[in-house]
Amino acid sequence: MKAMEKTAKITFYGGTGSVTGANFLLEIDGKKILIDCGLTQGVKVADDVNWDPFPYDPKEIDILFLSHAHVDHIGRIPKLIHEGFHGEIYSTLPTRSLASPMLEDTAGILGKNEKIGLDKIYTEANIKKTLALWQGFEYHQTIKISPNLEVFFMNAGHILGSAMTLFTYNGKKILFTGDLGNSPSPILPDTERITNIDYLIMESVYGDRNHESRDDRRKFLEETIEDNYKRKGTLIIPTFSLERSQELLFEFNALVEGNRIPIMPIFLDSPLAIRLTEVFKQFKSYFNEQAQKAMVHDKYLFDFPGLHNTLKSEESRMINDVPGPKIIIAGSGMSTGGRIVHHERHYLPDPNNTLLLTGYQMVGSPGRLIQEGMKTVRITGEEVVVRARVVTISGYSGHKDSDSLLSFVEDTQDSVKKVFVVMGEPKSSMFLVQKLRDNLGIDASAPEQGSSVTLPC
Ligand SMILES: [Zn+2]
Repeated sequence: MKAMEKTAKITFYGGTGSVTGANFLLEIDGKKILIDCGLTQGVKVADDVNWDPFPYDPKEIDILFLSHAHVDHIGRIPKLIHEGFHGEIYSTLPTRSLASPMLEDTAGILGKNEKIGLDKIYTEANIKKTLALWQGFEYHQTIKISPNLEVFFMNAGHILGSAMTLFTYNGKKILFTGDLGNSPSPILPDTERITNIDYLIMESVYGDRNHESRDDRRKFLEETIEDNYKRKGTLIIPTFSLERSQELLFEFNALVEGNRIPIMPIFLDSPLAIRLTEVFKQFKSYFNEQAQKAMVHDKYLFDFPGLHNTLKSEESRMINDVPGPKIIIAGSGMSTGGRIVHHERHYLPDPNNTLLLTGYQMVGSPGRLIQEGMKTVRITGEEVVVRARVVTISGYSGHKDSDSLLSFVEDTQDSVKKVFVVMGEPKSSMFLVQKLRDNLGIDASAPEQGSSVTLPC
């Protein structure tokens, strides 16, 4: 009898043709394994695709691997649980700790929606069940799934705890990158180099664009703060609560403690970001060497004179009464909701104020429209006139840019048989596919949603 042919089958259920909603099914060695279970975010129609039934039976999934704690990678786990998933959940230790406040925050928003029954899905009980199934691992700690299949996490350098997931099956190596960090990050170690991979499933958020130099980012930040100080204005920064908020606190801490900027009120106006910063403090051993060294002189990397954490909404409203110059950091990062929208309504019409964008702005989001120069923008139902200065510093992006993605793959050029480019807008993914083919001569493609590949192993 002919021995059964060994293969791995990957089906691309989410995070294809879009940045968000990552969800991949890997069928390997008789196991059904999911990689990420994220929410599709940003545009309105996307809301609906999130609540479609899963295209597989959640009850049959053995293991769910999670690359990191961003909602576009973990946000649909309560739905998976609700529909009967009872397998194991694996991630790094920091990802597990960060996921708890992230999921509770998501539940706080989505769980209010009774119309499409989200109040039954985003419940405390489903989050509790999720965390009970969830096991944390160190980077490089081997997870033995079967005699022929083992897995470990490698540092992706994207956010605290972010991981590339490396499957080794019969000696063949399949790597899911998750999101890849824009190394060097102020806080995190660099993305680990990968070599000797057979199949690569990689992100492409910035597949078609390069960031400005990372060396200049702190200088630009300093200049933006100083300019705002001179105008006695309010500098508002719409920020992702996870990682970017902590990165900015880290940078502000360095600028204030190093006497590079005058002391002024800086409000971290995000209960979620405040909670997540507490988790960062528990995982200092995961910071990069420089951040570790900085801690020798300054134990409190996220605390400095002038910083106010505003947890309660009354405190948030009182920020208005504080005269400028001042700085407000608040979510959401793309101005689609959260406390930032009140501040934007209040401060954007005044030319003395500044809006600083440091993160990815989804096509069609208010943040993207403002970035592209629109002078009137609809922010959660209200027309807002934009007269404030708008500044973008792309050096803080949490994602590798086009050139860095290319050199990331180049390291594995000798061994890699096929690269699947996902988690990007179609234009970005296709551009990267072309570059991988043209510059490195690698077999690359951008799979369509719902398509499958069977890889010989
Ligand atoms: Zn991410």
